[in-house]
Amino acid sequence: MDNLESELILIVDDNPTNLKLLFGFLKEAGFKILVARNGKNALEKMPHIKPDLILLDIRMPEMDGFELCRHLKANPTTKEIPIIFLTALSDVKDKVEGLTLGAVDYITKPLQQEELLSRVRLHLRLRYLTRSLQEKNQHLTEEIAARKAVESELQELNRELEQRIAKRTEELYLTLQNLQTREQQLTYEASHDLLTGLYNRSWLMNRLSEILKIEQPQAHKKYPVLFLDIDRFKSINDSFGHLIGDELIKNVSNRIKICVDSRGEIARLGGDEFLIILTEAENIQTVEATASHILEELQQPFPIGNYQVVISASIGIVFSILDYNNCTAILRDADIAMYQAKESGKGCYRVLTPQMQSQALERIQLETDLRQGIEQEQFCLYYQPIFSIYDKKIVGFEALSRWLHPQYGFIQPTKFIPIAEKIGLIGILDISALKSACQQVKIWQEEFEMPLTVNVNFSAIQFQQAGVVEKIIRTCHQSGLSPSSIKLEITESAFLETAHAGTKILEQIRSQEIKLCIDDFGTGYSSLSRLHTFPIDTLKIDRSFVSSLGYNSDTTAIVQTIISLAHNLGIDVVAEGIETTEQLEKLKDLGCEFGQGYLFSKPLPSEKVTQLLSNYSNRQGD
Ligand code: C2E
Ligand code: MG
Ligand code: MG
Repeated sequence: MDNLESELILIVDDNPTNLKLLFGFLKEAGFKILVARNGKNALEKMPHIKPDLILLDIRMPEMDGFELCRHLKANPTTKEIPIIFLTALSDVKDKVEGLTLGAVDYITKPLQQEELLSRVRLHLRLRYLTRSLQEKNQHLTEEIAARKAVESELQELNRELEQRIAKRTEELYLTLQNLQTREQQLTYEASHDLLTGLYNRSWLMNRLSEILKIEQPQAHKKYPVLFLDIDRFKSINDSFGHLIGDELIKNVSNRIKICVDSRGEIARLGGDEFLIILTEAENIQTVEATASHILEELQQPFPIGNYQVVISASIGIVFSILDYNNCTAILRDADIAMYQAKESGKGCYRVLTPQMQSQALERIQLETDLRQGIEQEQFCLYYQPIFSIYDKKIVGFEALSRWLHPQYGFIQPTKFIPIAEKIGLIGILDISALKSACQQVKIWQEEFEMPLTVNVNFSAIQFQQAGVVEKIIRTCHQSGLSPSSIKLEITESAFLETAHAGTKILEQIRSQEIKLCIDDFGTGYSSLSRLHTFPIDTLKIDRSFVSSLGYNSDTTAIVQTIISLAHNLGIDVVAEGIETTEQLEKLKDLGCEFGQGYLFSKPLPSEKVTQLLSNYSNRQGD
């Protein structure tokens, strides 16, 4: 504010003398000056000028100084301009009025240059200071506002950030919770059976090895294990369907849980197999009592859906697992004992004995040997002639498999057929027997010009395998033997077991003219009444009836019934195991038309049969 004089001063006065005087003073001091003759004139100029100070006379025509002052103070663009009234010395009232209207000062006339300039300068300076203060203030206010804006923006950002963090934290927490739940679920699934909620095989193996690792087992604790298997579960599943099967498994597991309570740990090994570790049992009596209790409970009917399902189960027991050093051996032995319970008629328990173990090991060895035997073709066929009982003529043969074991010599089919069935190799054996038998009999038919038939035993287990009918038909056709010369023998028990699914297959076979024979008839009892439903051509009376013929009147009556019934149904009858002439005579009396047995001939190797047939045809020719 060094250069006050460059400021613009508006003089509003109607008195030319005053104007001149003022103009002169101010001009001399270097100010820029504008002049208005009265209030109205000044007001008109205001929009175009920006005076820094106004020297305002009071008394003026048209619009006096007060009026102008009021206008200026009322207008925001002009209200800050300092106004100094020019007044007569004596006019106190005017002075007061002027100051009240907002004037900053007054100068009394007659005007004194010194006073005028110093008041003008003072007020310009004041105005300048006020302005710069206002500016600073304005600046400060702006700065404060800006700061506040930034602050609130910051706060907003912080709030947003906090919200985001809170949200993210919540998300993370949820993810973590999900992960934990999933992990718990996975841990659960890894050790539990999902159907029953019992432990699974993997848990069991860990648990058993944990028990075996106990360095100094408490002497009184033996950790007995019970291996439980539901009897004939497969046929329950087949006849009621899988849903009922699953429901049954759940119900069985619940009953076992109740029986075992807190005295043991239960795992489901899969299918219908359960394993129970009795952690509290101290002696064999307690273990056997628990096993009996479980078996009794399981024999009570299970109400499932609309059914009352009645089952039984077999249990194998290993009393002390601490004698073992690996878990697989425990399971194997418990399974052996369970198998023994099944062999003993099912629905019971058996405790493992050393003898059972050695038998089982022998069986396992035999399984291995059998696989190898099939690979190395260690099997051959023996043929037992079938005769017409009336004229003792050979009508055909039954082909019977023999296994020439490299170490044990001949092994009978009663021993190896069940193993082959168990390990799923019976199909290969039977088809290969069928092939050889058909080829052989075709040769004999041609060589001896006899209408010989061949009976081949066929295990019904393989009827569940895909493509078995096609295989049978193809094998028969390839041999070149007329299908009507071929008879498949299926045991009565197999017939009963495969009743539904099997019948269709049997009909397909028969539609190819291949004949069917029900073997060991009479051992299944219940089937006499169902005989008419079986699609068969021949019925073979079991040896057990034949052997007691003659001296057991009941048997004789049964055999009589069987024969009459079969004949009424158009079915041929063969009696097997005829060993004595009495039996033969009796059968003849009862009307049985065919027979086989040691009385006629034992099963013979093919060379012996060739010899027999050549002697026989020579005899016939004589
Ligand atoms: P099966 O079909 O009932 O055969 C009759 C069995 O009684 C034969 O025993 C035969 O040697 C024997 N046998 C014949 N006549 C007499 C007799 O007068 N007295 C006595 N005590 N026994 C006699 P094998 O050859 O040991 O066959 C046993 C069973 O093995 C057969 O019973 C048959 O069910 C089965 N089998 C034999 N070969 C095969 C085969 O290739 N496949 C299938 N799936 N099973 C076969
Ligand atoms: Mg047979
Ligand atoms: Mg038989």
